[in-house]
Amino acid sequence: MAVKADSEAEEILPGRAIRRYGNACLRVTCQPVPVSARGVSPDVVALVKRLWRILGVDGGVGLAAPQVGIDLNVVVVRDPEAATAKSRTTMINPEIVETFGPEVFFEEGCLSFPGLFHDVARPRGIVVNFTDESGHSHQIRNDKMFARIVQHEVDHLNGVLFVDHLPFTKKVWLLPRLIMQRVGHLIWKLRNGK
Ligand SMILES: [Zn+2]
Repeated sequence: MAVKADSEAEEILPGRAIRRYGNACLRVTCQPVPVSARGVSPDVVALVKRLWRILGVDGGVGLAAPQVGIDLNVVVVRDPEAATAKSRTTMINPEIVETFGPEVFFEEGCLSFPGLFHDVARPRGIVVNFTDESGHSHQIRNDKMFARIVQHEVDHLNGVLFVDHLPFTKKVWLLPRLIMQRVGHLIWKLRNGK
C-alpha cells in the first residue's frame, strides 16, 4: 500500500521490481508458507529481505509477495504511526480473523498503481493472526493505520486490489486512468520481460 506523498521529493517512483496493475500475478490466490519448528525456509527469509529492500526504495507502507511476482502468503507492513523500533512487521500467513468498528474512508494508493489514489471504505479495526520468520505465532488487534494497511495487503494475497472496493460508478469515472495504468504495465513488461 502507498500513502500520498506530502512533497514532490517523496513522490513514489514506479519500482522496477514491482508488478503493476494488469499483470496476471496480482490476481492469483497465494499459497500458504510452510512453517516448521525452526521457522520458514531460507528462500522465504530471502523473499522477506527483498520485500523490505523494495519497500524502503519505493517509500510505501506495505508490500505483498505477489507484487514482486511470488505467490506466497507473505506481507511486510511499515506502520508510520508506530515508534521506529516497532514500525516493521513481517507477516507470514496472515489471516484477518475479525473486523470491528464502523466502515471508514481513507485515501489509499498502491505501489502497483503508481500515482493513483482513491478513498476506500473498510472496517476501522481488525484482529489479525500471523507467524513470524522464526515460526512464532502472533495476534494483533488494531484500529488505526496499521489495520488499514494490513487489510490492503491481505487483499493482495487473495488477488484483490484496492480499486475492486470502489463502487461501479467510481470505477467508470476512473476508467481512463486505469487504462493508463495498464499501458504502464505493458511498457514495464517490454522493459523488464516479465
Ligand atoms: Zn497494494
